[in-house]
Formats: sequence, structure tokens, C-alpha cells
Amino acid sequence: VWNSCLQIIKDNIPAQSFKTWFEPIKALRMEGSVLTIQVPSLFFYEWLEEHYVGLLRKTIKKQLGDEGRLEYNIVVEQSSSSKPYTTNMPSNGNGAESKYQSMPIPISINKDIKNPFVIPGLKKLNVDPQLNRNYTFENFVEGDCNRLARSAGYAVAAKPGGTSFNPLMIYGGVGLGKTHLAQAIGNEIKRSLPDKLVLYVSCEKFTQQFVDALKHNNINDFVNFYQAIDVLIMDDVHNFAGKEKTQDFFFHIFNHLHQSGKQLIITSDKAPKDLAGLEERLLSRFKWGLSADLQIPDLETRMAILKNKIYQDGIELSNDVIEYVAHNIDNNVRELEGAMVSLLAQSTLNRKEIDLNLAKQMLKNFVKNSSKEISMEYIQSLVCEYFEVPIEMVKSQTRKREIVQARQISMYLAKAHTKSSLKSIGHFFGGRDHSTVIYACQTVEDLIDTDKKFKGYVADIQKKLKMS
Ligand code: ADP
Ligand code: MG
Repeated sequence: VWNSCLQIIKDNIPAQSFKTWFEPIKALRMEGSVLTIQVPSLFFYEWLEEHYVGLLRKTIKKQLGDEGRLEYNIVVEQSSSSKPYTTNMPSNGNGAESKYQSMPIPISINKDIKNPFVIPGLKKLNVDPQLNRNYTFENFVEGDCNRLARSAGYAVAAKPGGTSFNPLMIYGGVGLGKTHLAQAIGNEIKRSLPDKLVLYVSCEKFTQQFVDALKHNNINDFVNFYQAIDVLIMDDVHNFAGKEKTQDFFFHIFNHLHQSGKQLIITSDKAPKDLAGLEERLLSRFKWGLSADLQIPDLETRMAILKNKIYQDGIELSNDVIEYVAHNIDNNVRELEGAMVSLLAQSTLNRKEIDLNLAKQMLKNFVKNSSKEISMEYIQSLVCEYFEVPIEMVKSQTRKREIVQARQISMYLAKAHTKSSLKSIGHFFGGRDHSTVIYACQTVEDLIDTDKKFKGYVADIQKKLKMS
């Protein structure tokens, strides 16, 4: 009977799906109108239920009539409880009721070494966690930009699966430390709980493995392998976009792990709500735990990261060079490190010690806008930041003292550091005429001569301007 069912099914689904999901099924027995089939895992059963229940129902009806029923016998995975249990099939309108039974596990003993997913007999599974040992918490410099993510990571590492941060979702832009932090959690768990099976995998690699498993027809081993993991770190899930099948598959693995109290750590370049191209149900899972973002580190943290890196490598570098690098490369930790590495490499090659001038010269390619002239916008933003006045006020008509001062200094700096004409400076700062600019410059110069504090302000801002 099952064979004729298979014929019908085969005609109705793609060959690949048939091979993956129906060929591994064994018909066990036919009793009355109840057909019992054996599937290799609970995962398999759920997959059939979700994707093929309609087809199965129709097929059974066709072959066995209205009375026909289908029962599943599931080969229980090693890690699951050995107690037999029975459950009703969740979605069986008129189909059948299913029975899960535990059975001794005929897990394939590995004959084919090349297959990475085969779980060896009853031995304890040994998984290479695929972690980079340099990505530790000690090496992950703390700052306002990462405090929440870092401490959540710490909590997860102390109690994998045992916090409400499951999954822990770490998100943020390129080069801000997602992979580092996610791996630090893995490394920390391996250190304190060496028996935990930790696995780091990028979304791309997972996809590739999935495709290969389909091709070589060992989905079941693939599933068993992933379900044995205690701590799964899935990096860059935004890359699941557009890969529907892989996503679907990951969704099921996610559920299984989550249900068995395993820890999931996920990284992505956007917050779950902003991830386009991912299935809603997967996104909703991501929101179950905690989402913590990594932001661009502030100057102080960037300097600390550089100092830490220098310390790791046993190199010395003067403080003003560090400050110069940290000041100018301000969007991405990876670039920050890259700039420094290239600086060090060049200094070794030229056998020259790195002073600020050399650093400036060498970093020309790294520092954005370095060849461009300083813009009035930039001056305006520096001045406003320095005096903590709202940026739009400078261009307004207000005569408030501190605004007037910021405006006059901005004009003075614009005349000194840009090639703009008096007319265009006046125009830029709120549509004023050139005589206003002349007056502003005169006022600033007078104050520099007579007011020490004021002189200090201007010098500070000018220093910042020169840094860039
Ligand atoms: P992402 O995965 O977000 O693109 P990575 O984790 O690969 O970023 O980080 C890029 C580089 O920056 C790595 O070398 C990493 O060690 C370093 N890095 C990022 N954040 C920090 C930090 N807070 N402290 C120390 N190094 C950091
Ligand atoms: Mg990364």
C-alpha cells in the first residue's frame, strides 16, 4: 500500500523533495485501515506535517478510503527521553492520529568519513566549535556602545540556555564587533563548561551545508548533528534573505533547540524589525529573547580598543598617534584596526618610528575626506558641538549671546580655513552680507587678544579641526 502511496506522492512533488523526505520513510505495518510508517526523527515528522500533510491525507484517502489512517513511528533521537509517548497529530482534520514511539536508535555508525554530520554510535559527540580563540571577553573592550550586548553576552555565557536571553540577538553595522562578541560567548562557555557542545556557524556556511546535505541526501544526519548542539551561534542571519528553504529549515532547528532549552546566539546587521526578506515567523522567534545592539564606539572607546590591540601585540605607539587614528577613523572598528596595522607595517618596512606627522602621511588613504578641504558645514558642526548649541541656531536670526558667539567663531574659522569668499560665508551662515563677516572676524580677533578663556576656546576648536 505504501508503495502505491509513494507513487502518487512522487507524481505530485519535486524529485528532490521526494528523495529527501519520502525515500527515508519505511512502511512498518498495515493493520486494518491503519498504515504505520517509520520516520527517522521527530524533526522529520514535523517537517512532513508542516509541508505535506494535505498531500498525505489525500493520498491515504485515495488508497485506504475514508477509514484510512496514518500512524507515525518516530525514531527517537539519542538526546531525547526514552519514555514512549503519544501525541495527537496537531493538524489532522480527518486524517489520522499519530503515535510517537521510542525505539532503540539505529544511528548510522560512520562508514563514510566525509560525511560531517553522522553521529557516532553512543559515544559522546565531539564537535569542533569553530571558534577563533582570540575573540574573548577580555579582548572585547567595553564602552557605552556595547555595554548592554556585552553584559547580556556575559550572562548567557554563565548560564547558557538558562536566562531569558534566548535567543540572544546581537545586531549592528559592519565591523562593530558582532562576530567577536558572539564568539567570545562561545569561547567563555567552552572554558567554563567544556562539555557543552558549542558550534559557531555563519549563515552562509549553514546554507552551503544544507544545500550539500540535500544533494547528498543526508538531511537526516544534518538535522541530528544540529539538534545535538547545546549552544548554537548563527552569524549574520540577514544573509538568510531570499533563501527560503534554508530559512525554513533553520526555523525548525531553531525551534527544536529552543524547546530543549539550548542556547541560541544570533547576529545580524539590523534589528529584527528591520530585517527584510526574512520570514515573519522566524523574525518573531528572534524577538523572543533579547536584542542588543552594537553602536559605533565613541572616541574614548576607540582609543581604548587601539590601546588594547597594541598591548596584545606588544607594540608601542605614542598617545597622540593613537588619538589621531582614533579621531579620524570613526565608523568601524575593523577599519580602525586595519589603519593601525597598516601604519605598523609601513613603519617596520621603513624602519622609522611613527610620529604624528608620519601617521598623518601614512593614513591619507584611510582617512576619508583627507584630501578634501574643510567645509563650512564641518566647522559649523564642530563649533556647535563644542559650545553645545543647537546646530540650526547658528544660521538663525537670534541675537542670543552664546549663539552670536558660536556664529562669529564659525565665520572666523571659515575665513581662516576654507577658500570660501566673505560673501559665500555670509550667505552660508544665515544669509548675512559680507560686512557682517568682516565684523565677526574682527570681533573674534579682538577677543583672542584680550580674553584668555576665549582664546582657549578657539584654540581647542582649531585643534579639533586640524585633527581631521
Ligand atoms: P562584525 O562581525 O560586526 O562585522 P567583527 O566582530 O568582525 O565585526 O569585528 C571587527 C574587528 O573589530 C575584529 O577584529 C574585532 O576583534 C574588533 N572589535 C570590534 N569591537 C571590538 C571591541 N569592543 N573591542 C575590541 N575589539 C573589537
Ligand atoms: Mg561578522
